[in-house]
Amino acid sequence: MSIEREEIVTICCSDIAGQVRGKGFPVRDLKNRLRFGVGWTPTNIMINCLGRIPTTPFGASGDLMLVPSPDGDVTIDLGANSPVERFILGDILSMKGEPWECCLRSFLKRALNDLETETGLRLIASFEHEFHIDNATERPGDSYAVSSLRGLEPFIGDVIAVLRANNIAPDTFLPEFGPRQFEVTIDPALGLVAADQAVKLREICRSVGRHHGHHISFSPVVTRGVVGNGVHIHFSLIDKAGSPVAYKAGNPGSLSSIAASFAAGIIRHARALCAVTAPSAISYERLKPHSWSAYYANLADRDREALLRICPFPEMEGVDVAKRYNLEYRAADATASPYLQLAMLVYAGLAGIQDDLPMPYLSSGDPGTLSVEERASRGIGDLPRTLDEALEALESDEKAIGWMGPILSQAYLMHKRGELAMTANIDMDELCRIYAMAY
Ligand code: GLU
Ligand code: MG
Repeated sequence: MSIEREEIVTICCSDIAGQVRGKGFPVRDLKNRLRFGVGWTPTNIMINCLGRIPTTPFGASGDLMLVPSPDGDVTIDLGANSPVERFILGDILSMKGEPWECCLRSFLKRALNDLETETGLRLIASFEHEFHIDNATERPGDSYAVSSLRGLEPFIGDVIAVLRANNIAPDTFLPEFGPRQFEVTIDPALGLVAADQAVKLREICRSVGRHHGHHISFSPVVTRGVVGNGVHIHFSLIDKAGSPVAYKAGNPGSLSSIAASFAAGIIRHARALCAVTAPSAISYERLKPHSWSAYYANLADRDREALLRICPFPEMEGVDVAKRYNLEYRAADATASPYLQLAMLVYAGLAGIQDDLPMPYLSSGDPGTLSVEERASRGIGDLPRTLDEALEALESDEKAIGWMGPILSQAYLMHKRGELAMTANIDMDELCRIYAMAY
């Protein structure tokens, strides 16, 4: 008697390590699992990117439910002779059905909800991803070259098709500056959807890459000293009616006063934010001067080395600039969960609005050419130079700790310090090699 192969579906979460973990079951049981999902364990959030749990505040006790979200479904079906992969992003709930304090997706929902309740504003965002393909052909002069796409067409075409099949609108796919480095961008969406799509996109690229024999890495630094892989988080604000509110022609940087306060909140909390947006030891190998990432806590108009970059728009007749206008946060990478990254950016921006912060100094040129005093007088601070420094900045930022709450902040700091302790004696080249595999 021949058997008929069954498909499974995995319910997943994106966790502190920025990994997507979950549990699977036969697809035919999905209906029965919509309400309670699969069992989950608090200490799972403490599994670091190396697959270890150096310390945990939760011990071996406690139980949770990882419940599929109606918006979380992803099917990767590459057609003939290839197995179908299906996973569903979900929320981690207590056994009473309430969001668990360390569920990062629920944390983002709370942040977006607080933003809307307090200000009537909603955030739209898009995560722009750079990545490496380890066995792409490398040739001198490859940067942005059309030739670097040759041979990768099946992979690229399938990534685009799978994104679209999963309601993620592809925007661009390009050869990037670095050797074997590429970039994929997608259309903006409301905050939660945008973060869901970032999680989905990474897994789709990895899965389709595997199918085509490519190992894809989103790690911030694949080869030490070579340009890194950024995650640039583009965002804008809309009001209740859906009208864009971040743009104001004639203002410095064309930033409306409410968006200026939002940006100022991000600048004010930048050092703490880095602990969650650039959360690995190797993240700081990417955040170097003159590497088109970010090195200072500054806002600048169309400058690719600013922490917050005001993105360009066509200055031509008939262009609805307000609709296109967006800012980009550049000190982010893919070793973090997009939910946590966006939640913290939203809370920092909201704090800026609540405190009615004025427009930050609009920097132009390299802040590194200014003296320390000149930077200080313009409100341009240093970003942390190591993860250790970033974690300290987070710990001493009462507001940021307050947004996370006592349980998540404690778990987060413990998780990341445990990871740092494990990697402290590994040299940076080796660490880059390990993280390139992990991400
Ligand atoms: N690869 C750069 C980074 O690490 C960004 C290059 C670009 O502006 O696209 O963020
Ligand atoms: Mg790029």
